[in-house]
Amino acid sequence: MSDIKIIDLHTHTDNSQDGNHSATYMAEIAATNGIECVAFTDHCEVDVFYKDGFDRRATQSFFEVSKAKIAFDGKLEILRGIELAQPHYVPDLAEKIVNAQNYDVIIGSIHNLRGMEDFYYFKSFDGYNVEDLMNQYFDELLQMMEWGNFDILAHITYPFRYIYNICGYIEDINKYSDKVDELLKLCAEKDKALEINMGGLKYPINKPAPDLDTVKRYKELGGRLVSVGSDSHYAERIGFGIPQAYEIAREAGFDFVAKFNERKVSEFPIK
Ligand SMILES: [Zn+2]
Ligand SMILES: [Zn+2]
Repeated sequence: MSDIKIIDLHTHTDNSQDGNHSATYMAEIAATNGIECVAFTDHCEVDVFYKDGFDRRATQSFFEVSKAKIAFDGKLEILRGIELAQPHYVPDLAEKIVNAQNYDVIIGSIHNLRGMEDFYYFKSFDGYNVEDLMNQYFDELLQMMEWGNFDILAHITYPFRYIYNICGYIEDINKYSDKVDELLKLCAEKDKALEINMGGLKYPINKPAPDLDTVKRYKELGGRLVSVGSDSHYAERIGFGIPQAYEIAREAGFDFVAKFNERKVSEFPIK
């Protein structure tokens, strides 16, 4: 187990609003901890791109990560990524952002429904029907998939951790199985990587997003690519949960995880 190579395709530097450490510091800690490959994927909320200063942050992130990539050449493989959230709400802008830099990997994610705040900021679900919100969430993921200019479909059960925090129960993905199946099928057809996101391990829910059964279902529906990410916002957390994510991938029948260089996929061994 000790010679297991760690790849982490979802991490945030201080060019994310909730990040803490510079790309170079994160790279130094990752290299010291024996990480093989890391993608820095700072937040880019496309629906509030100009309003919340993501235009400046995205540029800064790309060049900070580029500097780290050069500085750590031969010690740690660094991939230049971005977590593009709500891209299909403003598709022309999203297209522009993707083409603005020579990214290695683009993560597609949804943090908020249209006109609403990120689930992260929810204090209560009063006045909402959680099931309606989740149905809307999966509909938006389907639309994002139709837009399609990304490589990794991120944390498809993202709201579950906040539902657990606030309502105290683990939402049942099977209630949405028609939409989830459709989503997984599209993900497979379009040859995107389904992310096994371990960020939920930092939350009381303490679960990966999505769970093993969903990863298995994706495989059944023809899915060929999975990726793994800690969604870490601290240098010390890079690689956190990745061995467990490999286990999920293996149990679901995958014998490698996806790696991306200049958006071309390759196989990263997990055994
Ligand atoms: Zn995210
Ligand atoms: Zn993230």
